[in-house]
Parts: sequence; structure tokens; C-alpha cells
Amino acid sequence: MSYLDNNATMQMYPEAIEAMMTIQRLHFGNASSIHSFGSTAREILEKARRGIAKIIGCKPKELHFTSGGTEANNWVFRGVLESRVGCGIITSTIEHKSVLKAATAARSYRSAHKLRVDKDGVVELDDLESAARDIVRGSAWGTRPSCLVSVMLANNETGVIQPIREIVDVVKYIVPDSVVHTDAVQMFGKHRVKVQTLGVDLMTISAHKVGGPKGIGALYVREGVKIDPLILGGHQEHDRRAGTENVAAAVGFQVAAACITGDMIQKGRIPTHRGYAETAKRDRDELEVGLLSALDDVWVNGGERERVCNTLNVGFRGVDSEALVLVLSGLGIFVSNGSACESGALEGSHVLRAMGQSEEDSRSAIRFSFSDTMPEGYCGLVLKDVIESVNALRGMPSITP
Ligand code: PLP
Repeated sequence: MSYLDNNATMQMYPEAIEAMMTIQRLHFGNASSIHSFGSTAREILEKARRGIAKIIGCKPKELHFTSGGTEANNWVFRGVLESRVGCGIITSTIEHKSVLKAATAARSYRSAHKLRVDKDGVVELDDLESAARDIVRGSAWGTRPSCLVSVMLANNETGVIQPIREIVDVVKYIVPDSVVHTDAVQMFGKHRVKVQTLGVDLMTISAHKVGGPKGIGALYVREGVKIDPLILGGHQEHDRRAGTENVAAAVGFQVAAACITGDMIQKGRIPTHRGYAETAKRDRDELEVGLLSALDDVWVNGGERERVCNTLNVGFRGVDSEALVLVLSGLGIFVSNGSACESGALEGSHVLRAMGQSEEDSRSAIRFSFSDTMPEGYCGLVLKDVIESVNALRGMPSITP
């Protein structure tokens, strides 16, 4: 079995499961209760918050737990735009659906611009500059121009990394009263991600992409940035996100983040994994080189640019990606084509289409996303099976390296 769909979700680290089970069994108090069960749960929750805050280089009070990346992204649009009358929106054509749909919902009452990307899937900075200038020009006389910019740090389909620092610099120069958000769900844990270096005001992360549990993520909100709550009720999460905190999930998130970033190795704990970044990149590169040298009419989407260490997106001309996913699944290789739309019908990937690919080419792409949880030496077998499957789907005789 080869699970290579880690950008969809990653197997949990055993350390994270263990930690969560201990909390569920022993420290089940409500973190808002004032008795000792509550205060213990509160201490555990705040320790988890401090651990994740340290990894991204923010203050613990700037980190707010949510139910995942989707909620955090939705919160950004509702929470920032609610109190900023006339605020413009700039996002990009390659964002995750949780950003695109939140931006579309907000667009009904505000102007919005989706940034173009080049053929390698990198946001075009001149388009950003002209969109920012349009916002300044279009703002009502006597009002301060403002905008919300949301561009992902790394794309979930191609792994291509976006120039967020440059985006922040351009936007803040033209529209000083702007709020910049990045969806760092696919980058966090896999590479060094520090909010100060990026210069962003808001940042989304999620636990299940880094070997933590599903159903928890977080939004970093830089101190001083105004954001209204999305979920109303109690005083949890610094009065910004109501609802009883999921202490066990927060701990699972923090432990997974420590595992994937290598923090556990530094602390002298014996990790069950082999070192994420090096392992994922080595396996990714091995498959990439193998496929490019063995097959004709294949290409790596975003391959010319800096990509997340674990992601490989390959186009196989003339091959229907859904058929290939299913054939590989039958062989025990689990990958994704990232192009199934919500209705179940198949449309080309919006990301690859935005990169200028034809509908046919955009329907031929497979995403292989690696981690450090696979046993040594599986990559050669995957390579052989993918080559044979592509040849079979192309109606060609099988030639294996
Ligand atoms: N943003 C990106 C880039 C993603 O890849 C995903 C999940 O696929 C999300 C947001 C949503 O995160 P979650 O599954 O935690 O809601």
C-alpha cells in the first residue's frame, strides 16, 4: 500500500494519537470551568497554543483555534470585511475553494479582483500592483482606501510557493490601510513558516495536513488587527471564536506540528518518523525523475518554480486522470487528480486552467503528495506501477525501466 495523498490528509503521527488519548481519558474538563479539572484543561490548552505559536513565531494570544482551515479562511472574509465599509478584495485564481467561495460571497457587496498567475502558477505582481492602484482610485472621496488581500502561501495542487513577502510589500506600499492574509495550510510544518518574515496580518493553518487530527486548525491574527468573530457565543479564544475548546485536538495538533517540524528530534525524543522534509523531498524527486525519463508527453506542473518539498503534480498527455486514479487505487497506490468538482462531474482543475492549460491537459494531471510515514524503498514499485498504468491507458505496450 502506498498512500501518496498527503495534501488531502495525512496519517496521524502515533505521538499525536497517544497524547490525545491521554487527554480524553484523564483531562476531560471544560477549559472554561473554574474547578481544577477546568484549570488543568486550560493549562494543557494554553501549552498547546504556546507550542504552535512558537513554531510560527507569534505571541500565543495571536493564535486562535478553529475547526480547521476552511473555517479560518471563511472567518477572514467575514471578520475583516464586516467592519470595513468599502474595503476592496484581492485574491488569486488558484486559491482553495474555501477562499474563492468566501470571496465570492463577500463580492456581492464589495469590489473584488482575482490575480492572474503565470504558466508556472505564480501570482503576477504587476497585476497585483494595478489591482491595488484601482482600489485607491475607486475609493470614495474623503475615505481612506482599504483592502483585504488573500493569497495562499503554497498551492495545494502543484505545491508552487507564492511570493508572499513581495505581495505584502507591494500592497502595503500602495494601500497602507490593507490587511494581508495567507492560507498557509499546505506550507506550514513542511517548510519554515514565520509570520514576521512573511509580514502577513493573518495566517491560516490546519492540523490534519501535518499529521494531526481532522477538525482543528488555527488563525493567526496579528496584534492590533481588527477582526469580528464568525462564531458568536461564549468568551473562548480571546472572545473571538466561541465554543468549548477541543483540548485534545489542540494537543494533537501541537504534537503533530512538533513531529513534522523536527522539534521532537531536537528535544531528544525518539521519533517514529524519518524526518519529514528530507524524506518527502527525496521520494518526490525520485518519482519525478523516474517518470520524466521513462514516459513521453509528461510534464511537471509548476516544476520550474520553487515548490513545497512533498508535492509533485504530473500531466500525462492523453490520459484521463480519473481513470488513472482508479487504476492506481486498484494497485494500492492512493493519489489524487484534484479536479473533481462538487457536483461529481469532472471539470479541469481550476488551478491548471488558471495556468493556461487546455481543458484536456488540465484533466490529465495527477498529484502525488508524499510524507515521512511510508516504509523505505516503496518508491521504485510506485514508479513501475504508474508507468505501466499510463502505458495501458494510452493503449501502449508496457515498458518498465
Ligand atoms: N486551504 C488549503 C490550501 C487546503 O489545501 C485545504 C484543504 O485541503 C484547506 C484550506 C481546508 O482545510 P481544512 O480541511 O482544515 O478545512
